[in-house]
Formats: sequence, C-alpha cells, structure tokens
Amino acid sequence: MLARFFSYYRPYKWLFILDFTCAILVGILELAFPLAVNQVIDRLLPEGNWEIISLACLGLLLVYLLNTGLHFVVTYWGHKLGINIETDMRQQLFTHMQKLSFGYYDNNKTGHSISRLTKDLEEIGEVAHHGPEDVFVAVMTLVGSFGLMLTINWKLAVLSFVVIPLLIILAIYFNKKMTVTFRKMFQDVAEINSRVEDSIGGIRVVQAFANEKYEQKKFEKNNQNYRLTKLQSYKIMAQNVMSNYVLMRLVTLFTLLFGTFFVISGELTYGQFVAFILLSNILIGPIQKINAVIESYPKGIAGFKRFTEIMDTEPDIADSEDAIEIDLHGAIQYKDVTFGYEGHNKVLNRISLSIQSGETVAFVGPSGAGKTTLCSLLPRFYDIQDGSITIDGIDIKEMKLESLRKQIGIVQQDVFLFSGSIRENIAYGNLDASDAEIMEAAQRARLDDFIKNQPQGLETVIGERGVKLSGGQKQRLAIARMFLKNPPILILDEATSALDTETEVAIQKALEELTEGRTTLVIAHRLATIKNADRIMVVTDEGIAEQGNHHDLLVSKGVYSRLHAAQFG
Ligand code: ADP
Ligand code: MG
Repeated sequence: MLARFFSYYRPYKWLFILDFTCAILVGILELAFPLAVNQVIDRLLPEGNWEIISLACLGLLLVYLLNTGLHFVVTYWGHKLGINIETDMRQQLFTHMQKLSFGYYDNNKTGHSISRLTKDLEEIGEVAHHGPEDVFVAVMTLVGSFGLMLTINWKLAVLSFVVIPLLIILAIYFNKKMTVTFRKMFQDVAEINSRVEDSIGGIRVVQAFANEKYEQKKFEKNNQNYRLTKLQSYKIMAQNVMSNYVLMRLVTLFTLLFGTFFVISGELTYGQFVAFILLSNILIGPIQKINAVIESYPKGIAGFKRFTEIMDTEPDIADSEDAIEIDLHGAIQYKDVTFGYEGHNKVLNRISLSIQSGETVAFVGPSGAGKTTLCSLLPRFYDIQDGSITIDGIDIKEMKLESLRKQIGIVQQDVFLFSGSIRENIAYGNLDASDAEIMEAAQRARLDDFIKNQPQGLETVIGERGVKLSGGQKQRLAIARMFLKNPPILILDEATSALDTETEVAIQKALEELTEGRTTLVIAHRLATIKNADRIMVVTDEGIAEQGNHHDLLVSKGVYSRLHAAQFG
C-alpha cells in the first residue's frame, strides 16, 4: 500500500528531494536558535561587548532570512508536489473509469464516481504534500531538541520528557478512531453526490410529479448523516487537541518548575535555562505537525484505498492481447448465444441467427423479450456467456474494441446528447470532421433548416442533454452524428418510437438514406416502419419464433400476423 503510494512520487523525485532538503534545513535552523540565545546570554552578556552582540544578532537575522526563503520553498514546492501527484492520480482514475464496462455502471452510482474524482483525491493530495517530509522533519526536530536538551542537562531533559510517550500513545489511539470516521465521511459525501445527481439531474421529473418535498426529505437524511459523521470527527479532533494541549503545557510547567530548581542549585546557567524553555517550546511545533499528519493521514489513506479499489477493478470487457484491427463489411452471425445480466436470469438462450452484409433485418416482439439486449451484444457492451458472435467470420472477441465499436453505429429511442453546441454534438460522430462535412451530415439528417433558423447556427447551445431541443430535433441530431460516423453496421433501437407519426414519417426518410449500403438491425414496435425490411425476426421469450419477409410472415399466420392484426385491425 505505502509502496504503491510512493510510486506516484517517482516522476517528481527532484521536486521531492528539493522539498525534503529544504524542510530538513528549516528544522536544523529552528534548533540552532535556542543554542545561539544560550551563547548570547552566557558568554556575550557577561562580557558586555555591545558590538559583538550586535554582530551576533545581525548573523541571526541573516539566518532568519535564509529560513524565510526556505519556508517559501517548502510551502510552495511542497504543495506543488502534492497537486501534481493528485492531478496524475485523477487523470489515471478518469482514464480507468472510461474503460469500465456497462456492467460496472449498471451497479455503481455516478455520484460515487464524482466524489472519488474530487473529494477523495483532494485528501490524498493533502497527504502527498504534508506527508513524508513533515513527519521526517518533525521527528528530526523532536529527536534533535531532545538530544540538545540532554546535552545541556540530562536530568531536566528526562523530567520534561516524561509525558512524551503518553503523547505518542494518544496519537495512535486517535488515529485509529479517526480512520474509521473518515471512511464513513467519504461514504456520506458520495451519497450526497448521488442524491444531487438523481434529484437535480431528474429535476424535471421531480417537479412534474410535484415531489420536491419527498426529494428534500431524502436529501435531508443524507445531509444529516454527513453532519453527524462530521460532528463525530470534530469530537475526536477536539479531544485530541485538548489532550495535546494539556500535555504540552505540562512539558512547559515541568521545565519551568525543575529548571528553576536546577538554576538555584547551580546546575543550570541562565542561558541554558532560557535555551531549555525555547527548546521545549519548539517541541510544540513538530508535535502539532505530527498531529496534523495524523489527522490528514487517515483521510488520505481512506481516499487512497478507494482510489486503488477502482484502479484494481479490471474492466470486464477489454482487448485480448492479440486483438486485431479490422475493416468490417457486416456479415453477422450469432451462434447458440446465451446471455443473462449479472445476477439475473438468462435473457437469451441459445439464440442463432445470421445476417448478410448489407441486409436490413428488423426485430419485433413483445417488450422485455431481449431485442435491445441482443443488439447490445454486438458492440460487446456485454460479453456473452456461451456461444459465439462473428462478423465477417471473425469472432468479435478477437477484434480490437475500438475498431469494433467505431464500425457499429447505434441510434436509440432516448438520445443522449452532451451539453454543448450542435456542432460538438454532431462532430461526436467523427471528431476530425470539417464544417462542410458537419453541415452535409446535418442536411442528410434533415436538420439543416433548423440550424439555419438559429441565430447562432451550428454554435447553438442545446442545454444539458439537449433539453432545448424537441424529440424530433434530438433524433435528427443523432442521425446526423451517425452519417458522420459512417459505420458499416447500424443498429436502430426504436429510434423513432418516441416521436409522433408525422415526425416519424419525416425522419423515416433520413433513416432510410442512412441505412443504404449498411448492414442494419432495426428494432421497432410500429410494424409500418419495418414493412420494407429484407427480413423480419420475431423475438419472444422463447427466442426467435419466426423469420421471413413481411408477406411470408403474414401468410404463415404466426405471431407476426397476430401482431399485425392487433396494430392494423
Ligand atoms: P426489449 O428490448 O426486447 O424490450 P431488453 O433487451 O431491453 O428487452 O430486456 C430484456 C430483459 O433484460 C428484460 O427482462 C430486462 O428487465 C432485462 N435487462 C435489460 N437491461 C438490463 C440490465 N442492464 N441489467 C439487468 N437486466 C436488464
Ligand atoms: Mg428495447
């Protein structure tokens, strides 16, 4: 764990060495000051040479200035180290999250991902720059000052230090308590994020149902949970501060009490006494620092644990080592394909079908039969449990994921658009597309009139998930995106089901143009839209019940003809 944490320091080893060296120098200079005061009082003061004393003070001033500069380096460069490491981790985590499969996101909340990318990593960054060097320097200063006190007067040193072991025991105790609390706190923040993601993301549904109060109640519960956990952590913190304070003051009191005794008995000079008090005061600094680390360390570790948890989650679906890149034509074959979602019953049981390159095949059947599932296996959103899926005779598992997915286009019923401009959303189909290509795609999708009517044209911002567009406009945008992507294989999953008949007819033209020359899988529940498909497959819970063209299926008087009769009377 620790080794893994430190591996993130590797790119910044010089920054770390610089920071570390300066921190050590700061510690040493800090220790030198009481010794200098000791000399001034015991040697220079009795001699009474004003010039030498001024010179000594001037020397001290220079040392202070040097130390001031060092403080800047330690603070600025130390934090720089931390934020660099934090940034690297965040980038890595985001990159990794992009690879995790549909199955992972089916079972994990977006809010949790957000909180891992923000809050958790911030805490790790905090430890990264206030971790190793702070602990090292603090321990060094502690040991150093104790050593100096020992050489000045070992009896007084031992007497002043009796409480130190107690401080250490307390530190360990509080650290343990804190780690547990912080883990819980992170969980609470993640829950709040999830709530916001749900309630604000779904604000239109919330308001449409007039369920604001219900959402507020749910949010309040999360919010209060967070408050209670925070209170718990503050309580531990307060107890920690309290016990530290009292113990530290005991050190000062002991030093004062026994120091005076030793001065009176002649075992300690005035200068030594002052140096002693200064040294014992220096102790507070490192002890507070160690405490601060003890406070931030559990947070950082809790965050780092969650970071590694995700980093160690292997994507279910990834390229095999010898995966190949391939130009697809689009002859698709499913052979005895069996699939069920994680922890659920089988959705598809030994399904076999074959589609020729360039063919348009329609899937119809009752909702929940598995049509969407069947199609989502082709781009490997999920991996099948048994059987095989090939395109052009090659198993899709042998293809590079990127290559496979770049050549399959999907238009769904609910189009996901990104907040941004129309241009960005169309260009999502091909990030290198020129303006002319984007406009051409828009034109083929019959979106060009709409764009021309917008004062800002292609730059028109469409709002989060495209809320400023109508259903038909969204669908046209999705189609434009697909023209630009230009894949040999196309999946239309109820692409026009949500639209009114008039819009559907209008869009149908664009869709027909889109399917030209591509292998197309169409899922539709309005049978009118698929009459012209080369082949129709009827999917039921039992699998593919029948297949053929519209006419044959009507004649054979099976499931299809019954569906048809139900829709057209
Ligand atoms: P269709 O598209 O034919 O209406 P689906 O393929 O969407 O049917 O769904 C088939 C079955 O799989 C349904 O019972 C549905 O509840 C289930 N299902 C769909 N998606 C998931 C998922 N991500 N996780 C678990 N079960 C799912
Ligand atoms: Mg479906």
